[in-house]
Amino acid sequence: MEQVTLFVTSDAFDPFAFDKVIIGFSGGKDSVACVLHVLELGIPKDRIELWHHEIDDGDTGQLKMDWPCTHAYVRAFADALGIPLYFSWREGGFARELLRENALTAPTLFETPTGLMKAGGIRGTPSTRRKFPQQSANLSTRWCSSSLKIDICSMAIANQDRFTGKRTCLVTGERAEESTARSKYAEAEPHKTSNGKRMVWQWRPVHKWSEKEVWAIMERHRIRAHPAYWLGWSRCSCQTCIFGSPSQWASVAQIAPHKIIQIRKHEQEFGVTLRRDGDIDKAIARGTPYAMDPEHVRVAMSETYDLPIFMEEWALPAGAYGEAAGPT
Ligand code: SF4
Repeated sequence: MEQVTLFVTSDAFDPFAFDKVIIGFSGGKDSVACVLHVLELGIPKDRIELWHHEIDDGDTGQLKMDWPCTHAYVRAFADALGIPLYFSWREGGFARELLRENALTAPTLFETPTGLMKAGGIRGTPSTRRKFPQQSANLSTRWCSSSLKIDICSMAIANQDRFTGKRTCLVTGERAEESTARSKYAEAEPHKTSNGKRMVWQWRPVHKWSEKEVWAIMERHRIRAHPAYWLGWSRCSCQTCIFGSPSQWASVAQIAPHKIIQIRKHEQEFGVTLRRDGDIDKAIARGTPYAMDPEHVRVAMSETYDLPIFMEEWALPAGAYGEAAGPT
């Protein structure tokens, strides 16, 4: 097969030079800013697709990390903007990986234009987790980001023939302002799935943006932010993100006490707490719950999303410019 030649460099990055632009779309403000920025640049919509990596899978009664509304919010956003959206996830999601004992990591499932595909989960050495991901920039101990997002994305690229012989740009929304680790990321670099038969670059177009610039682009397009921001969260991570602040844990305890019960039970079973500074009850006791409007709670805790994505009169949500707790 003919090799796909290198045609961009990190210094002279040209997002128009790609056949396909995949935007890693969490539903958080930085991923929304990426979509809006790519559209403002004028990249044709028919080259763009959104990929959302689900953290949880299925209704097994096990702990679900993410906001109940996130799936429906990202669906509503993609529909409102008229951009295709593909979901992908690890079979069994966070809960199965958390409870994995002397077993292989589960297969990856990913939607494609021609249907659902499955890959992986058959090779490797059985191993055990039974421990929450740790609050670290190191992705081997903070395994949720790598196992449930980064690796899922790579599997979905590497296992789709439609990227063979093509130039693909993977857009992600990390910003330097968010953490020291993120400040060191390159704005554009070859992606690990790039090889002789497919070219893949990762581009972080909002890497140097301030939070103000992110809200400004959302205001220009009148986009209603994810429900978590309206409750007071300044970053839209999992609802029970391991990086949650004490006040976020106190807020979760108010609106999703069943999740706290599950986390407490796991901490006791594993003999290892989610946080290094004490158990979940200690974190909750140190925090002050956000002043959450019951209607905003209803929207965030619902698995459906029925609000318009475009606001008639745009408003900044309560969580904007709030405490910067979230993945590093
Ligand atoms: S948002 Fe937090 S808990 Fe969820 S995958 Fe990222 S680091 Fe892990």
